[in-house]
Amino acid sequence: MSVDSSSKATIAAKAGHFLDVNTGAVVPEIQPSTTFARDDRYQLIDPANTYARDASPSFVYAERVLAELENGDECRLFASGMAAIAAIFYTLKPGSHVVLPDSMYWGAKSWIHAHCHRQDIFLSQYHAADADSIVDAIAGYNSTQLVWVETPSNPMMHVTDIELAASHAHDAGALLVVDSTASTPVITQPLDLGADLVVHSATKALNGHSDVLAGAIVTADSHDLWLAVCAERAGAGAVPGTFESWLLLRGMRTLFVRVNAAMKSAMAIAEFLQSHSAIEAVLYPGLVNHPGHDIASRQMQGGYGSLLSFLVNGDSTTALSVAGKLQLITSATSLGGVETLIEHRHTLEPEENAIPENLLRLSVGIESVEDLINDLDQALRGI
Ligand SMILES: *Cc1c(COP(=O)(O)O)cnc(C)c1O
Repeated sequence: MSVDSSSKATIAAKAGHFLDVNTGAVVPEIQPSTTFARDDRYQLIDPANTYARDASPSFVYAERVLAELENGDECRLFASGMAAIAAIFYTLKPGSHVVLPDSMYWGAKSWIHAHCHRQDIFLSQYHAADADSIVDAIAGYNSTQLVWVETPSNPMMHVTDIELAASHAHDAGALLVVDSTASTPVITQPLDLGADLVVHSATKALNGHSDVLAGAIVTADSHDLWLAVCAERAGAGAVPGTFESWLLLRGMRTLFVRVNAAMKSAMAIAEFLQSHSAIEAVLYPGLVNHPGHDIASRQMQGGYGSLLSFLVNGDSTTALSVAGKLQLITSATSLGGVETLIEHRHTLEPEENAIPENLLRLSVGIESVEDLINDLDQALRGI
């Protein structure tokens, strides 16, 4: 059952209704202890806490809030989004098969390819904008374990129909994992649409202030893959620090106001860019002419995210000069922060990824939208 977004905003704002009954504090403490004592009968004082590589009270607050926001049952934090993604792949046996989208976060794609090559795990690819193409990507393999979705995809902004992807994955006996970093639980709950696991780079909008590296996985129930992922984290220990976990919880308290403000500005910027003579195309699922607009309208509620890409009239040099002329908007990687960032992905990804050379990806923050539009306008002048 999905809870309406106002109650989710309340869960986030109140950090899961936290109140310390002993002190009256409205903010959870930071608990840095790595080890937890036993009593005179050698029983743990709190059975949930043994050693901080496995679990710590500091992780649990943020994990509970995120599980609730995703309509999930449980959540585990990781040291980074990549550590969360890696934990899932570490559970796969040689000979397994995984289906990836043709457009996804490059850091994840390159690590997954290297890992699966070393481990003899087979990979095939579907078109992110066409979930039916998952059927062909599965055909011919008899041990498909996972189908991976990232929507909207980075940086091409393809929208994948999560419900359809889940049904194709489940028909083949595979599980569906959704990287929902770009959507955020403010607008999409992939578990409600049939996903088996949701992955986040909490470094992005969940924390939102470009000052914490963290990842998270949320599950709807305790299936075997979830238990294996939990064992992987407990054994290999890719956990965040206690202060990072506390900062993440603090960041999530303003998640709804930040993301709602950024999405509103992203829509206004997309419309501004679309009507600008220096722009060839704007890739944003909120625009009615985006090929994924109808699917996005069904599975994203209350907005279309704060990430968009646009193609300038010209080539790589034109795109780089536009980025270089921006005064307020910073050229830097990452997304989902309170500050607006722009990136030329063609410079960073290999030629085979076919990222258009005139594409700029914009992660919209919460500055005044007029200031952002004026900055883009002055940088586009003369093209
Ligand atoms: C940033 C990002 C990741 C990786 O997360 P880190 O926290 O940087 O390790 C994974 N998926 C998406 C969509 C991302 O944007």
